Amino acid sequence: DCQERSFLAPMNKDSHIKKVIGVVSGKGGVGKSSITSLLAVLKQRAGYRCAVLDGDITGPSIAKTFGVEGTQIYSNGESIIPATSLEGTRIMSTNLLLNDSEEPVVWRGPILAGMIKQFWSDVQWGDIDYMFVDMPPGTGDVPLTIFQSLPLDGIVIVTSPQELVSMIVSKAVNMAKTMNIPILGIVENMSYVECPDCGKKIFVFGKSHLQDVAQKYDLHILGQLPLDSELTQLSDMGMIENYDSSWLDEFEKQIQFF
Ligand code: ADP
Repeated sequence: DCQERSFLAPMNKDSHIKKVIGVVSGKGGVGKSSITSLLAVLKQRAGYRCAVLDGDITGPSIAKTFGVEGTQIYSNGESIIPATSLEGTRIMSTNLLLNDSEEPVVWRGPILAGMIKQFWSDVQWGDIDYMFVDMPPGTGDVPLTIFQSLPLDGIVIVTSPQELVSMIVSKAVNMAKTMNIPILGIVENMSYVECPDCGKKIFVFGKSHLQDVAQKYDLHILGQLPLDSELTQLSDMGMIENYDSSWLDEFEKQIQFF
């Protein structure tokens, strides 16, 4: 018995978005925003037109990661024109609307959900092959409302080895099933560190439970990604589009979603 998604927001008349993929996590800090950004970077590199809708509105980081923080956002009267990264990815985030990006976002649930709907309906996204939505962390009311209001074609679950993965995954799986949205796969972020001298993978958080959990819920593993200080640094500098590393090739092969 699938819950009817009757709250779907209408798409902006100047937007043609082929696929919308939500990226979810159980809690903050596992790298959900980073993975959302990397998915867009990889798809953009592969020649697709990409967009990132920053739905993590209480902790928005996408604009900074792509170096568009501080971009003046314009409206043509009817629609809002999103920011565009150097490589051409379109971006919309609450911190593009705030005067001071350090200003904390303290709006409550319904306003947050309304904001996301507006990002969908009022932003002139143009022609987009892949839109990635950085969802708010967790499986509470706000993510749920956003799930219901956007026409998601699939979701990607991001976890980290420190999390109680099974519980979180079961919640995300239930949420997706209730909404009848396919789960495209699961990513374990910060799984290991690679020794810069010998290349050996060091699993700092011990044995991963990813395989067991993926099997239990019948999920496709998209990757176990390393902890890489280069990624943090480039993200901090707004240059995630310059990130490159050997593991990206394997990850890219796994994200042939549609
Ligand atoms: P979330 O969206 O889950 O809250 P973020 O993507 O904002 O998490 O990541 C939290 C912090 O960890 C950021 O500073 C980010 O640059 C860093 N980070 C995320 N993934 C990695 C990684 N694989 N290697 C190194 N740093 C990472």
